[in-house]
Amino acid sequence: TKKRGGKNGALLYDPLIQDNTRQRAEIEQDIEEALTNDWFEAYFQPIVDLGNNRVIGYESLMRLAHPRKGLLPPSDIIRIAEETGAIGRIGNRVFEKALANLVALTRASGDDKTYLAVNFSPLQLEQTLPMLLTTLTARHHIDPRRIVVEITEATLLHDNPQIRMVLDEFSRIGCRIALDDFGTGYSSLSYLSRFPVDIVKIDQSFIRSLAADEAELRHKSRMLVEGITAISHKMECSVTAEGVETKEQRDLLQGFGVDCGQGYFFARPQPVEQLIAAYDTARKTTSVA
Ligand code: C2E
Ligand code: MG
Ligand code: MG
Ligand code: MG
Repeated sequence: TKKRGGKNGALLYDPLIQDNTRQRAEIEQDIEEALTNDWFEAYFQPIVDLGNNRVIGYESLMRLAHPRKGLLPPSDIIRIAEETGAIGRIGNRVFEKALANLVALTRASGDDKTYLAVNFSPLQLEQTLPMLLTTLTARHHIDPRRIVVEITEATLLHDNPQIRMVLDEFSRIGCRIALDDFGTGYSSLSYLSRFPVDIVKIDQSFIRSLAADEAELRHKSRMLVEGITAISHKMECSVTAEGVETKEQRDLLQGFGVDCGQGYFFARPQPVEQLIAAYDTARKTTSVA
């Protein structure tokens, strides 16, 4: 089977996998083994305030650290786990890891305001999830107002009453709700008025075209990002740009009024130990100076 190197040097399964039941079964088995042996990890990617370049939050991104295959990225795993129903168990496991990571980071940085953004698939948004979140954050002594619940437009597509209830309950306990991959779904703008959204995350495809070679595309995507930002602000949502890879993109985004950025230009998703080491180094440097 072909594997190609992916972002972060991780291995991506071949796209043909969708038709290959043997490879599919292999992933299902990886998932079960990973749950049994505790191979799931929560990598953290910083989210930066463009106004002052400070880290204001971290997005938890799931990785399966396979002892033989290396680091497996979430895309295939999540798609298959949604079909088999394993997504709930994976999600809870990764969420617990992410909370423990946040506690460790808070201790290292001394900053107890940074938030933790967690991705939830539609199937995870069961009625019991807000209660579980309350229990787990209390156990880790984390203020639930530090949790950002990331959902995609697909979650809101059918205006499922149960999902609406779950989102309202998250809002009530103080979590913020972020609409992920914004602009790629069916009726993005209407979701802003119909659901309690606090943060709009502009999809990285828009950010990529900001510096496109083709002038027309470049111009239009700039107008779109500026327009989405203005509308989001009018709806009292803050705006984060995903997939910021260059200084040019970063500066353009700031000029368009975008509040925050996330992407390789600032930092890659990484194990929390690495972020803690960076804080320790920074502290030593400043205390020496
Ligand atoms: P997402 O929530 O939109 O996460 C952003 C994705 O963009 C991540 O991919 C991240 O590694 C990648 N990224 C960040 N900065 C850059 C950049 O500058 N350039 C490029 N090209 N990519 C960048 P990743 O980690 O592979 O995750 C893919 C998707 O899997 C996520 O998209 C999210 O929808 C889902 N996901 C990740 N972790 C979880 C989880 O614990 N639970 C659930 N349900 N879904 C998750
Ligand atoms: Mg996300
Ligand atoms: Mg996204
Ligand atoms: Mg995405």
